[in-house]
Amino acid sequence: MLEQSVKNQLKDVFKVLKSEYTLQAKVNSEHTSKAELVELLEDLASCSEKINVRVEDAKGLSVTILKDGKSSNIIFRAVPTGHEFSSLLTAILNLDGIGKNLPDETLTKRIQNLQGKLEFKSYISLTCTNCPEVVKAINVMTALNPNITHEIIDGSINKEEVNALNVQAVPTVYLNGKHFHTGRAVLGELLDKAEKDTGTIFKVENAETKEYDVVVVGGGPAGASAAIYSVRKGLKVAIVAETIGGQVKETVSIENLISVPTTTGKDLSNNLLTHIKDYPVDVYENRRVAEAIVDEQGYKVLTTSFGEKFKTPAVIIATGASWRTLGVPGEKQYIGSGVAFCAHCDGPFYKDKKVVVIGGGNSGLEAAIDLSAIASEVVVLEFLDEFKGDQVLQDKIKETPNISTHTSAQTLSVEGDGNKVVALKYKDRNTEEEHEIATDGVFIQIGLSANSGVFADLVETNRAREIVVDSHCRTNRAGIYAAGDVSVVPYKQIIIAMGEGAKAALSAFDDKIKGKLLG
Ligand SMILES: Cc1cc2nc3c(=O)[nH]c(=O)nc-3n(C[C@H](O)[C@H](O)[C@H](O)COP(=O)(O)OP(=O)(O)OC[C@H]3O[C@@H](n4cnc5c(N)ncnc54)[C@H](O)[C@@H]3O)c2cc1C
Repeated sequence: MLEQSVKNQLKDVFKVLKSEYTLQAKVNSEHTSKAELVELLEDLASCSEKINVRVEDAKGLSVTILKDGKSSNIIFRAVPTGHEFSSLLTAILNLDGIGKNLPDETLTKRIQNLQGKLEFKSYISLTCTNCPEVVKAINVMTALNPNITHEIIDGSINKEEVNALNVQAVPTVYLNGKHFHTGRAVLGELLDKAEKDTGTIFKVENAETKEYDVVVVGGGPAGASAAIYSVRKGLKVAIVAETIGGQVKETVSIENLISVPTTTGKDLSNNLLTHIKDYPVDVYENRRVAEAIVDEQGYKVLTTSFGEKFKTPAVIIATGASWRTLGVPGEKQYIGSGVAFCAHCDGPFYKDKKVVVIGGGNSGLEAAIDLSAIASEVVVLEFLDEFKGDQVLQDKIKETPNISTHTSAQTLSVEGDGNKVVALKYKDRNTEEEHEIATDGVFIQIGLSANSGVFADLVETNRAREIVVDSHCRTNRAGIYAAGDVSVVPYKQIIIAMGEGAKAALSAFDDKIKGKLLG
């Protein structure tokens, strides 16, 4: 099953394993996936003397990783191939303490501080590109805290369970029997939620304030570029970010990063991290800056949500933007049960079903075109009197027979039956008439909102909450710069964000040598 070249790579990776690992498969002898599972595990075990396989007859299908004979509490109720193959490998490496996604010391303490029994169940599909990040994050938590268990459940071989829970999007995570999360998420986000759910409060005790020449907030293309340009000037630089990659992580295919004809969001995010790590930049990932002030001397003091403090004369804000939501009844309730934001990720759940796309800009029209190849019918609603997307997309929409459109349509509510979306109500803004469309899914594509909230009292923002900058990325405050999607700079694109990040870093350096950072 595993190609020889993959096995050779694994032999190299597993060479340094310290503990003994047993891949304990419990599988019904009649199970249609038994042969595939056993072959995969035996192939894996053939790559290291430290890994062995045990197959037991049981109900269903599962594989547990045992470390030195003891359960790791990580259980795949799946044949971990496809996108989940890397989750299985990473779990083994993390259990051995050598995984690349093991968190830093503070995050490790946060995970170990989680109180009570936490039983996670993640419903996934092997073709889902968003699932491994969530699976790996919860596996990391499981590896570091013995109170945590994690079952990774492939919907396609556990259909009854998935249908009973009415899971309509992956990944969907349950914690102690209750819905916990649906969709993409990084470790920091899941940890925040787990702390909230379990009432666990974590604060860094007697946090020493970390001092840097430049602190970059945000790890998307703008933040990565700002950090690299700053450190190349010989400055002491930190990035404090929820993720390295930012929105790029949500992108499947990227074809307009000049000189890179085609790449994926995952590859580009990994490349950003690799490039940052080529330099002595301190990366504080999986945390949010929750407070920002300027002290009496003009130094900027940033505090993360769990109390770490950073002091610096120069801050580069590169916090990007987030999906906008409608704020109508039913929207939040049915996220993951019919309300979706990513056509690439969740479109396949709507095969031969009817869906509504809200938003007639480029992203809405692109989503509608994508979905028209999967769904039986696609209805596009636009609030304004005309579509704002590119003409070429509008033409394509017109010539696609299973797409219909309504302009001047104000969404009023997403209607459900308690479990899933069944309809959407909207008002025709010209006639005031209300309409109801029976639908299985609602894809919301109404753009992005600038993540400027933490800095809104410090620097000038416009009506769209974008931070106002001059042509050098300077804000109206000495020593505070903004770059990328969070700023007023038009055309929210990767290449532009990278350029703006570089510009902000060079402006900060220029201001430093002219003694202008503290105002
Ligand atoms: C689905 C999708 C597809 C796209 N496709 C393309 C494409 O093909 N080509 C293209 O050029 N562009 C594309 N874009 C746009 C492109 O991704 C963005 O323009 C670009 O990522 C902006 O970079 P940024 O660094 O300014 O912000 P972001 O990428 O948004 O990164 C901001 C970072 O800051 C973090 N952050 C936010 N608040 C805080 C806080 N308080 N504390 C710490 N960290 C914080 C965020 O978590 C994130 O890591 C796409 C966007 C989306 C959503």
